[in-house]
Amino acid sequence: MSFESLNLIEPIQQALKAEGYVNPTPIQQQAIPIVLSGQDLLGCAQTGTGKTAAFAIPIIQKLYQSGDNTRKGRRKIKALIVTPTRELAIQIGESFAAYGVNTDLKYTVIFGGVKQGKQTDELHNGVDILVATPGRLLDLITQGFVSLNAIEMFVLDEADRMLDMGFVHDVKRLIKLLPTKRQSLFFSATMPDEIVKLASTILHNPASVSV
Ligand code: AMP
Repeated sequence: MSFESLNLIEPIQQALKAEGYVNPTPIQQQAIPIVLSGQDLLGCAQTGTGKTAAFAIPIIQKLYQSGDNTRKGRRKIKALIVTPTRELAIQIGESFAAYGVNTDLKYTVIFGGVKQGKQTDELHNGVDILVATPGRLLDLITQGFVSLNAIEMFVLDEADRMLDMGFVHDVKRLIKLLPTKRQSLFFSATMPDEIVKLASTILHNPASVSV
C-alpha cells in the first residue's frame, strides 16, 4: 500500500516525500482512514511503529480541510496531544512541523521543568495544535493561559507509561475539562485492565487497531 491510496491532501503528500517516506507503516495504514472518518480510535502500538505520523497526519489533514484557521482573530486550540515526557512532546512537535510544513497550521509544545514564559507567549499568539505533558498543561490551564473549549481532537499518547509515571489523576482531571463532543485517539503499548478501563472513559464507540 502507498500513501497515494490514503487520499491525503497534496501539501501532506509533498511533505512526506520530502521526509523520504515511501509507504505507510501498518499502524498508519490502519489508523489514518479511521481518524479521517471521524471515528474514535484505540491503538495498541509501541514507539518505533510510526504511530506519531498515524495520528499527526490525519489531524493536520482534518484541520487544514476545515480551513477555519484563516479566520480573523486569535487561533483556538483545536487539537490537543498529551504525552508523558518532555522528549516525546518535543518529538511529536517535530513531527507536526515536518508533516504540516506546507500548511499554515500553527503548533506549540509545552512541558514542565523549564520557565513558562516562552510557552505562554506562544500560546498567547494562538495555535491550532498543542502538544503537552500533563502537569504543565494543567498548570497553564489553571493560570488561564490555555482554554480547551474549542478542542475537536484529543490524543492520549503512551497511556500505559502515563499511568506508570503516576499521571492518572492528572489525566482524569484533564478529561473532565475537554468538550464532550470531540474525536479521541488513545494509544498504549500494552492493554492491561486499568488501561482498558481508562480508555472506556475517554473513547466513544472506538475502532481498535493493533500492530
Ligand atoms: P514513531 O513510532 O512515531 O516514534 O516513529 C518512528 C520513526 O519512524 C520516526 O523516526 C519516523 O520519522 C519514522 N517513520 C514514521 N513513519 C514512516 C514511514 N511511513 N516511512 C518511513 N519512516 C517513517
